Amino acid sequence: VVALSNVHKSFGALKVLDGVSFAVDRGEVLVLIGRSGSGKSTALRCIDRFETIDRGEIVVCGHRVNDPKLDLRALRQDVGIVFQSYNLFPHLTIEENITLAPCSVKGISKVQAKEQARRVLAQVGLEDKLHQYPEQLSGGQQQRAAIARSLAMQPKVMLFDEVTSALDPELTGEVLKVIEALAADGMTMVMVTHEMGFARGIANRVVFMHRGKVHETGPAAILTSPATPELAQFVGTGL
Ligand code: ATP
Ligand code: MG
Repeated sequence: VVALSNVHKSFGALKVLDGVSFAVDRGEVLVLIGRSGSGKSTALRCIDRFETIDRGEIVVCGHRVNDPKLDLRALRQDVGIVFQSYNLFPHLTIEENITLAPCSVKGISKVQAKEQARRVLAQVGLEDKLHQYPEQLSGGQQQRAAIARSLAMQPKVMLFDEVTSALDPELTGEVLKVIEALAADGMTMVMVTHEMGFARGIANRVVFMHRGKVHETGPAAILTSPATPELAQFVGTGL
């Protein structure tokens, strides 16, 4: 469903992705880990074409992402992305936040969109927050609402970039539970996380990035028995 092949990306003189390749099959969860600055967010952003790449190829749900003729709207419909900060529109209710894109981008009716908002909010356990504003929700609830908003577009792939990093520890669990349920439901996902215990439990594949390269990759077991000293050090220190 998602495949990066020999992807190169620089910001000026800074080489951020240096021949990165990895792939995710349908229904798989790929967890991307690595030190700060190793290129994890950049890799995710390239998948959704928030960044363009210098060389290599990215194919997502049949879209050739670096093709100049790419249908960006079609790509963005297939791929949902949730960031560390929730990015909900503060002046809109949760329901309005969720129905906005399905109505304007997909052109579905208001009634249908509202029905769907109810369904995706139930999925993240926030049925009762339909008419509240983001500021009336806790950080964990806002993040779940942001996930619900992505789900309303019925994406084929979800990208998560450190979605729990900005949360207090006691709110992290509820967001991770939602992601776990999505995975159990067969959603294809690429996620960047520092929650190693969670990664071990959920990942079908782990990609450890180091200095812009995939330094080590394999099943979740590599987190407990790393083959390279760099990954060993990373999981040992948790930084
Ligand atoms: P973190 O764990 O801190 O989120 P990361 O692995 O996600 O790190 P990236 O955000 O991908 O790292 O950044 C990789 C490198 O690219 C960093 O050195 C960063 O400063 C640089 N970088 C990222 N985006 C840009 C940009 N738009 N312009 C210039 N440099 C950038
Ligand atoms: Mg990052």
